[in-house]
Amino acid sequence: MLARILAVGDELLLGRTVDTNSAHIARWLTDRGFHVDRTVVVGDPSRDIENALRAAVSDAALVVITGGLGPTDDDRTRQALAAVMGVALHERPTAWARIRRWYRTNLPTRAIPEINRRQALAPVGTDLLTNDRGTAPGLSARVGRCRVACLPGVPHEMMAMLERLDRRLRQWFPRLRRPVIGEVWLAGIGESAAQELIGDLLTERHPQVGITVSEKGHITLRVVGSAVEVRARMRDLRRAVTPYLLPAAGPAASLVALLGQQGRTIAAAESCTCGQVVAQLGAIPGASAVLRESLVAYHQGVKRLRLGVTPALVRRHGVVSEAVAAAMAAGMRRHARADLAIATTGIAGPGGGTAATPVGTVCLAVADRSGVVSRTVRVRGARERVQVRAAAHALVLACEVVLGRIATVPPAQPARSAHESRA
Ligand code: ATP
Ligand code: MG
Repeated sequence: MLARILAVGDELLLGRTVDTNSAHIARWLTDRGFHVDRTVVVGDPSRDIENALRAAVSDAALVVITGGLGPTDDDRTRQALAAVMGVALHERPTAWARIRRWYRTNLPTRAIPEINRRQALAPVGTDLLTNDRGTAPGLSARVGRCRVACLPGVPHEMMAMLERLDRRLRQWFPRLRRPVIGEVWLAGIGESAAQELIGDLLTERHPQVGITVSEKGHITLRVVGSAVEVRARMRDLRRAVTPYLLPAAGPAASLVALLGQQGRTIAAAESCTCGQVVAQLGAIPGASAVLRESLVAYHQGVKRLRLGVTPALVRRHGVVSEAVAAAMAAGMRRHARADLAIATTGIAGPGGGTAATPVGTVCLAVADRSGVVSRTVRVRGARERVQVRAAAHALVLACEVVLGRIATVPPAQPARSAHESRA
């Protein structure tokens, strides 16, 4: 079943707004069994929307439009839909009543701007889709053999309305079947090496197996097909990549799941990653069960006072060193009374690099009750990428420790880990 997405707005073409709506809608439709053949971004002019819509309704069974339903002059989706349907716009009393009610409830001290009345206009023959988060109602229509749904541009309003569309889609497309989708997550291995391990299991059909590397570094293998195909392929894939398997979607989710099962806690002391480790952990629902404390120990004085990193250690190894990362992790574990602690120290850039320690060099360490393990990674790219990626590397190292794939070493015998570059 072919679907097409139209994202409307000059700000999208100017690169001022990233079109996250199309990505969300595409995933939502794909999960429900549609094949999204194209996402088209068009500017505000009614003519542009009309042209894209005409092409879409002749090709696809479903067209979802996002944006251009606002009350201002540049919001032309209603007009474009009316033009393509060859009908007039007329005011819907129920929509106007709803807009007034929305204002009374949400902005009781403000008078309703007259231009909001435009949002009650709809092409003759269309249905209104309720928007309980904003003023713009959505629209649904039949254009020839195609169904068209117009949703607002504001992402959270669009998402809520998309959920409400679910029931309607099942009525419109009764033969639509949700595909069975399975996912296998890996970390600690690059894409090419993973591809070599997987080999022939990466097929285009029956089932379809896709490989995606997240910006944070873990790999997702996505299997789509019949229930039997997916089950068998997932088993074979897991067998092929066993040493790198994560139990959940990404290292942060895996750590929260693993530590939660074990009733253990974690803390983080971060220098160059500036809170990214804890941000990635804290983004996972259920983090409160495992996350104890985090400290951004940027200044050397803070590393010394709060974590016990001695000036002598810093002088001997340099502040960006595995020895300092290890001392930070061990200090943080004690300080936070956590079962595990993660530490990072490195050079996020763009300045501050040297020939010996270039920008993107980050030393990571994980301490547990048996000792500590440290690694050095080199992440290429801008400051933000170095921070995000280095934090993800640190979380992967922690997963490997928790899964027993890497053993920590007591501080008396300092860990001598190979200098590696996995980024
Ligand atoms: P609506 O139909 O809800 O009135 P609109 O396109 O008329 O939407 P805009 O004022 O253009 O409204 O956009 C509202 C907000 O939604 C803006 O913050 C804009 O950046 C965001 N937005 C619009 N379209 C998208 C999109 N495709 N992806 C992500 N954000 C979007
Ligand atoms: Mg717009």
